[in-house]
Amino acid sequence: MYDVIIIGGGPAGLTAAIYTGRAKLKTLVLEAGTLGGNAGQTDLIDNYPGFPFGISGSDLADNFLKQAERFGAEIRIEEVTGIEESPGGKRVITNQGEYLARSVIITVGARRRELEVEGEKEYLGRGVSYCATCDGAFFQNYPVAVVGGGDSAVKEALYLADIAARVYLIHRREGFRANQTAVDKMRANDKIELKLNKVVKRIEGEGLMQNVTLLDVKTGEEESLQVEGLFVSIGLVAAADFIEGLLETEDGYIVTDENMETSVPGIFAAGDIRVKTARQVATAVGDGALAGIAVTEYLKE
Ligand SMILES: Cc1cc2nc3c(=O)[nH]c(=O)nc-3n(C[C@H](O)[C@H](O)[C@H](O)COP(=O)(O)OP(=O)(O)OC[C@H]3O[C@@H](n4cnc5c(N)ncnc54)[C@H](O)[C@@H]3O)c2cc1C
Repeated sequence: MYDVIIIGGGPAGLTAAIYTGRAKLKTLVLEAGTLGGNAGQTDLIDNYPGFPFGISGSDLADNFLKQAERFGAEIRIEEVTGIEESPGGKRVITNQGEYLARSVIITVGARRRELEVEGEKEYLGRGVSYCATCDGAFFQNYPVAVVGGGDSAVKEALYLADIAARVYLIHRREGFRANQTAVDKMRANDKIELKLNKVVKRIEGEGLMQNVTLLDVKTGEEESLQVEGLFVSIGLVAAADFIEGLLETEDGYIVTDENMETSVPGIFAAGDIRVKTARQVATAVGDGALAGIAVTEYLKE
């Protein structure tokens, strides 16, 4: 029996583990994929305090992990598929077994939204990707495209400009939601060509992806773009299918109070999976710390 099971090993989960481990609670972190979450897959994190010249996402994730382990957190790579209330405590079910805990912190974050166009699934991993830092290196000196107009899309375009032969940034509007400094940097980069007021209609190829058909949302005209890679960066969706019906949610995101308590006693949530206005590493670690402290208080009672 664990005092607390933390579901998700991103910035929020590993920070919560630092706090619960330090409070001497028997802590288990269950991570489905790669420790560090979305932050761990980002090449450079420039706005996380304490690193005046930025830090690579994987180095930051390694630091979070080492610190959580130093305070005794146990880490397992298993995907959680359900949580059930039982007389013995909260039963956390995974793809490899099940565990009992007195409390749970859900920190499963958010995953990339899909375009839902013809060819997207077919060419996933054969040109289509949702992570430039993970897959960008495969496209050394090839033309690629990025879809999206937010911070992540602009950041991915800039990252890819150092690797690919040419980067097309496809955005359905004229204006960008992204940070103005990054947008200015992108506009000044002559390897990046903007394709504005355009959406992806179709992805085609032969074995590997070779072509993207764009639709101009103003004129209705179609355009064919020959690229070997397409990086989709059009926002996030909540990643917690397994909580359906268990907790109060809004659009799949978990509703919490300011202490990260959910609608179910003993279940807390932190990080990007929460209903919140800013999804950043700094806010995720803040949530993780609050959840760790709140769990410690809850278990004392
Ligand atoms: C491309 C990109 C660039 C970014 N750049 C920045 C930046 O420069 N600065 C910044 O502050 N923020 C940045 N962010 C945002 C930042 O990465 C997130 O806000 C932060 O990682 C959220 O942390 P989290 O722990 O809440 O969730 P996540 O980082 O999403 O971690 C959640 C973890 O839970 C795991 N998980 C999911 N489902 C399950 C399950 N069923 N069972 C077990 N584990 C599960 C996932 O595998 C993942 O490891 C960026 C995000 C992206 C996508």
